[in-house]
Amino acid sequence: MRQNIRLGTVAGIEIGLNWSVLLILALFAWELGLYVFPARPGHAGAADWIAGVVGAVALLVSVLIHEVSHAVVSRHHDVSVRSITLFVFGGVAQLEGEAHTPGADFRIAAVGPLTSIVLAGFFGAAQATAVAAGLHGLPVAVLSWLWQINLLLAVFNLIPGAPLDGGRVLRAFLWHRSGDRVRASIQAARVGRGLGVLLAVLGLLTFFSTGSIVGLWPALIGLFVYTAAKAEERYALIQGAVGPLTVGQVMTVPAPVVQGAASVAHAAAVLWRSRCDALVVVDDAGRATGAVTARAVMAVPDELRPGHVVNDIAISRATLPTARVHEHMDALLERMVAHEGKPALVFDDDDRLVGIVSTSDIERAVALRTVPPGGARAGS
Ligand SMILES: [Zn+2]
Repeated sequence: MRQNIRLGTVAGIEIGLNWSVLLILALFAWELGLYVFPARPGHAGAADWIAGVVGAVALLVSVLIHEVSHAVVSRHHDVSVRSITLFVFGGVAQLEGEAHTPGADFRIAAVGPLTSIVLAGFFGAAQATAVAAGLHGLPVAVLSWLWQINLLLAVFNLIPGAPLDGGRVLRAFLWHRSGDRVRASIQAARVGRGLGVLLAVLGLLTFFSTGSIVGLWPALIGLFVYTAAKAEERYALIQGAVGPLTVGQVMTVPAPVVQGAASVAHAAAVLWRSRCDALVVVDDAGRATGAVTARAVMAVPDELRPGHVVNDIAISRATLPTARVHEHMDALLERMVAHEGKPALVFDDDDRLVGIVSTSDIERAVALRTVPPGGARAGS
């Protein structure tokens, strides 16, 4: 998930906002200020608009606290957290790596909805206190909405399909029962996929039968859950197929190289000949300075390729994941995901560059691993 706006750091974790959040924030402020909070819906005064903005921002902070709770418990279980990004339907805490035991997996997932329930209790108590103190009108309306929305967040996140928290709880349970993390991940993601379809269908049915735009929310959320669950299932399948292999078994060796000063057209020609979808970029002395991907080359139009040099579109070495030849792939897969799928440079024990692992290497390994031993059943 790309961070578009950086908000700063909390407990050493980068916090960012996706642009979509600003849109949702404005929609919530509008809805709350115009229809939810005013005594006569549709007739909003200045105070109603301010209450709308306060309510929307308080929701955003609630979601952030939910995500930070995941991050804090992750760290407690030695799973480091790179960043938290808030986006359209909530937040994502980007974990580097995975829980080491089903118990840790369970706690990291369950703390989120639990935190939302605690927040709901906090706002509920605040509302009761306000009412007891004789307050009425807007402050009470805002607090009332806040406990309800936090409770809704808790319930929504408890839906038992990955990637939602409830799905991770389900995965932890299945993992605990079978002892097989990969299989549990695939099963939980499949349930998530099914629930995503169900939500989308129910939302669309509501929309077409009542004409109410409210039905579009579950439909959009269903689509999001489906897409994320599918990606999660795919990742688990890759992990299952490639995870137990060593980096040396998967990498392209020797690493195809291209000079940083060479033209992009030349890089395209080298990519064409190599089976890899990334090249190691080297300087005049032959030292690796980074990598260039097929995607970056393809983004340069044909006619401009002779006029651009590889260094213009290369990824610098400092931002690439690295690996050791004898290391297992599951650790590298996690690092590659944390680096948004960038190729990894592979070094031997003497720190010499020996190969490269790109998405094409992983795809090839998955394809070969899923062919039954002995190959296709031709002639049987
Ligand atoms: Zn959560």
